[in-house]
Amino acid sequence: MIGPGPRAWHAALTIAGSDSSGGAGIQADLKTFAAFDVFGASAITALTAQNTVAVTHSEAASGVMVSAQIKACLDDLPIAAIKTGMLANREIVQAVASALTDRNLPLIVDPVMIATSGARLLDDDAVAAVINQLLPLATLVTPNLPEAVALAGADLPTAQLGEKLLRSGAAAVLIKGGHGSDKIGQDWLISANRTRVFEWTRLDGQYHGTGCALAAAITALLARGESLDDAVEQAGAWLHEQLQGALKPRRGPLRMLPFRPPTACG
Ligand code: PLP
Repeated sequence: MIGPGPRAWHAALTIAGSDSSGGAGIQADLKTFAAFDVFGASAITALTAQNTVAVTHSEAASGVMVSAQIKACLDDLPIAAIKTGMLANREIVQAVASALTDRNLPLIVDPVMIATSGARLLDDDAVAAVINQLLPLATLVTPNLPEAVALAGADLPTAQLGEKLLRSGAAAVLIKGGHGSDKIGQDWLISANRTRVFEWTRLDGQYHGTGCALAAAITALLARGESLDDAVEQAGAWLHEQLQGALKPRRGPLRMLPFRPPTACG
């Protein structure tokens, strides 16, 4: 029997923590990749027991286990872009940085530190390793404003926060205004030669997993060959669509994204 011929496919790798609720972390990343028709592979850094109320338990993997998962994926699959999310501790940050050195693939670093529900997802003493070892490898780092301030070590205006993170070695920085309260939110995309500000209308309510989903959508679009500017713009439009169709859990205050394919974009 003659089967279908080989089909071109796009694949991306997420290195992040598992969120049992399915709204953030690895689960959000893989559902986002699927929404953009990108084959998702994963290296799991930690297991978390959580829902939209709280993270009730968390256990990190060893650095060796994280490196082995990354190597297994990169050695076999046509990975075209990589994203990092929750990295839990310094040992894992170091393992990820050394596994990705010299791989020369687009790398999106989402510097996840504290969940919207309040739990710490990165040890304090791992922040320096993120700055010194991971940012120099990053095509794009995607902090929200509080994360940008923590990484820069100073509460500066957005443009200066971006410049400081570029000096750490990231090729571009997307500082997200999602945690603010202005009716019109702004995301600043800053690179060495230009700054672009994306504006969007803030919706009521609070949402789970938005940072993971945005960074994963950018990663998927880069894996599909889009430019960084187009990927950021299309990912933002897609996220806005997902927020408009968000789902209400039974108990918790945060809404979940449906992770549907893009309609008006992409
Ligand atoms: N849990 C895990 C495992 C994550 O990777 C992330 C990512 O940011 C979160 C929770 C955060 O979710 P939230 O968007 O609700 O802050």
